[in-house]
Amino acid sequence: MEQNRPAPRRALSPKERRRRHRIRLVRNWTVFLLSCGAVMAVMTGGILWLLPRAYALIAPPTAFEAREYEGGAETDLSDKRLVLVNANLPLTEEPTPELAVADDATGVSLEAEAAAAYREMAEAARQDEIELVLTAGYQDAAARQSAYEAAVQSGRESGCSEEEAAARAATVQPAPEASEYATGYGADILAADSMEKDTGFADTRAYEWLEAYAAEHGFILRWPQERQAATGMVFEPWHWRYVGRDNALAIRASGLSLEEYLALEQTK
Ligand SMILES: [Zn+2]
Repeated sequence: MEQNRPAPRRALSPKERRRRHRIRLVRNWTVFLLSCGAVMAVMTGGILWLLPRAYALIAPPTAFEAREYEGGAETDLSDKRLVLVNANLPLTEEPTPELAVADDATGVSLEAEAAAAYREMAEAARQDEIELVLTAGYQDAAARQSAYEAAVQSGRESGCSEEEAAARAATVQPAPEASEYATGYGADILAADSMEKDTGFADTRAYEWLEAYAAEHGFILRWPQERQAATGMVFEPWHWRYVGRDNALAIRASGLSLEEYLALEQTK
């Protein structure tokens, strides 16, 4: 039987062995260095790609922070922008403010100065990628009546008695004669990505922005969460009120509702 025997190796000369050894050495080093280079390239490239993405994930978005308020100016209680309209101080006559459209998209109007201030504010918000939407502003007597009736009706529908429905509605939507929407200074402000009138609006970036900067444009949160006992109104994070810049900054700094702030100023 024929056997497969390995062919006898030809003995290499010592010179030839050294030559082959050198070739192997050079080849191995080349492969090694090229591999190192490739790994480094992938890693640095990968890290450069990954870092900003990882950062975006862990870094909070830019915080909107109110600028320091210097304060100072005395409050002029005859300033018509401070007019107080509520259940205790209902309108004695129908106001006739000069109006201007404040939001072209919704067509909602405010008192002319408030409208100009709102436009400026919306533009400033847009610079910070916040899209404010003015959903309610000036309302005439008929509009206020139907808004109030809609609120009473929703109370009836959730099973309240007539009396309860009216009482509850008045804490959400002022009765027509107690509604500052008549002045053109009341403004319901929401955001394009958050159009529900519920307290969830208080958790949005738009609300964070308004809390920080609305006062600089003359708007105050009209019925704050902590001041419900003083205003008699539930917290409505979307309901803002134009009072002018200096007044707004002073009122916000006081931490009071408009009712309390004006009462305090009257004692000075
Ligand atoms: Zn409102």
